[in-house]
Amino acid sequence: IVEIRRLRKVFGDHVVLENIDFEVHPGEKVVVLGPSGSGKSTMLRCINALETVTDGQIIVNGFEVTSPKVNLNKLREHLGMVFQRFNLWPHKTVLENVMLAPQIVLGQSKEATRARALELLETVGLADKADAYPASLSGGQQQRVAIARALAMEPKVMLFDEPTSALDPELVGEVLSVMTKLAKSGMTMIVVTHEIGFAREVADRVVFMDGGKIVEQGRPDEILVNPKEERTKTFLARVL
Ligand code: ATP
Ligand code: MG
Repeated sequence: IVEIRRLRKVFGDHVVLENIDFEVHPGEKVVVLGPSGSGKSTMLRCINALETVTDGQIIVNGFEVTSPKVNLNKLREHLGMVFQRFNLWPHKTVLENVMLAPQIVLGQSKEATRARALELLETVGLADKADAYPASLSGGQQQRVAIARALAMEPKVMLFDEPTSALDPELVGEVLSVMTKLAKSGMTMIVVTHEIGFAREVADRVVFMDGGKIVEQGRPDEILVNPKEERTKTFLARVL
């Protein structure tokens, strides 16, 4: 459902991604690990065209992201993205935050989006906060709203970029458990995270990146327990 071929991304004369070949199958959960600056966020941003690629090809659910003719709005209907910072609309309630995009972008009726939004808030355990404003919620609650908001567009693939790394430690679990539930529901997910426990429990595949390249990838028990590459071992020794 996501296909990346020989992706290369350069900022000025700085090569940030090189020779990335990567594919994700429908329903697969892939966790991407790697040190700071290894290009993880840039790769996710290339997938949903927040960055232009320098070279190579990306196809998402049949959409050629890298084609100059791609319809970005259509493409982004297939992709949900959750960032480290939640960026909820501060002057809208939780419910309105979740309803906004499907109403405006997909042109769905207010009644339909409202019913769906309430259902999603139920899923992330926040039905009782529908009428609250983001500022009155904890970071973990805000991030769960951000996940519900992304899901409201009925994406085919969800991209997560360190969704728990800005949270106080005691709030990490509630966000990871929503993500685990989503994974069990069959969603295709690409997750950049340092939460090794989540990777071990949820990932079908773990990808380790360093220096703009995929160093190795495989099942979590292979990569997390018996990595072949020295760089992976060094990294895991630091995060475990
Ligand atoms: P982290 O774990 O710290 O989030 P990362 O693996 O997500 O790191 P990226 O944010 O993808 O790394 O950055 C990869 C490299 O690209 C870094 O060297 C970064 O400085 C550089 N970079 C990222 N965005 C830009 C930009 N807009 N302009 C120039 N350089 C950039
Ligand atoms: Mg990053």
